[in-house]
Amino acid sequence: MKINRCQICSSKKIKKIISLGATGLCDTLLTYEETKRKEKSYPLNLVRCHNCQLLQLDFIVDNKELFHLDYPYKSSITKPLVKLLQGTSVYLKKRFKFSKKPLAIDIGSNDGTLLKGFKQMKFQTLGVEPTNISKIANKSGIKTIQKFFSVSTAKYISKRYKKASVITGTNLFAHVDKLNSFMKAIKILLDPKEGVFVTESHYAVDIIEDLQYDSIYHEHLRFYLIKPLIYLMEKHGLKIIDAIRIPNYGGSIRICATLNKNISPNRNVKQLLDLEKKKGFFKTSKYKKFSKDVIKSKNNLLNILRKIKKEGKNIVGIGCPGRSITLLSYCNINRDIIDYIAEQSSSLKLNLFTPNTHIPVLDEENFFENQPEYALILSWHYGKSIMKNLKVKGYKGKFIVPLPFPKII
Ligand SMILES: [Zn+2]
Repeated sequence: MKINRCQICSSKKIKKIISLGATGLCDTLLTYEETKRKEKSYPLNLVRCHNCQLLQLDFIVDNKELFHLDYPYKSSITKPLVKLLQGTSVYLKKRFKFSKKPLAIDIGSNDGTLLKGFKQMKFQTLGVEPTNISKIANKSGIKTIQKFFSVSTAKYISKRYKKASVITGTNLFAHVDKLNSFMKAIKILLDPKEGVFVTESHYAVDIIEDLQYDSIYHEHLRFYLIKPLIYLMEKHGLKIIDAIRIPNYGGSIRICATLNKNISPNRNVKQLLDLEKKKGFFKTSKYKKFSKDVIKSKNNLLNILRKIKKEGKNIVGIGCPGRSITLLSYCNINRDIIDYIAEQSSSLKLNLFTPNTHIPVLDEENFFENQPEYALILSWHYGKSIMKNLKVKGYKGKFIVPLPFPKII
């Protein structure tokens, strides 16, 4: 659905920053048969609201289409992420005082990775996850309800459980298509006194400054600065009392909000707001430069890849995170350039094909056997640990890191 009003403040003053073309959905990989049929694709434009400063997509794909039952992403497959996700619980336990046996609810809890951290600290835990990955969580001992989070789900939970001392919504907070009813549901479940609602989302400052255009895909409807987040929370009677930058997904912002009017915000909140202003994030020129640099970075990458192909050498992609689909599709990197994408043996994406560019995803065994001359690191935001790991496992070739500006290592 094309939108012409801001997703948070409903202003019509939304202007385009960059168009990344039209792509398929990044977590709907194709079977071989499907690559032969006509594909669905959706426009991918980044726009900015000149009223509340929210960066957002101007086309919304229904959440039910994006987060289909067989959604293939498991948090626990990204090793550095496991540690980061469990860091959320450690931070909150240190930062706030909770009553005995507090309840922590994670929305979009995936395989329960984040909640495991809370469980270790003796919280009662409950996951809410609409896809079949909830079954994996339940099997591993993290109680998870398989539902989309909504007002009716919140009512269902509040009948059976107590109010939550912590509600977390990490990457999902950028995904939710019906943001206002989502916030209403949070209010139903959150303990009015000690309850903390915690979101972690890609931070727009990191996305723009590090040219992370590949993190722009249909699952991410919004890219938050703290300014529009303050606006959003206030609109729903919540107050942001803490905000910090964290390294997750190549740079994120964690905010803590509460219904309790007696808690005052710490100075981080104002500091980040000042930083955004100082760095020019409320001005159009900032985004003009971003859009120019993205095009430059894309051309540089294509030059490097084409040169390697001319020399008759092989390139294999490493890792197939959601963001790789935008990079491959926007740069039109297809099978003429990359032989295949290597993923861990436990990946749910094996033997499927990327949308648009039709690159097969294969078990990384193939990669270590074939020893291609170049490995294109598609999960470049975890590049260091991935490259180290590949070397340890016996890879002898070179690495191409595609962003912010492409380089060979
Ligand atoms: Zn707005």
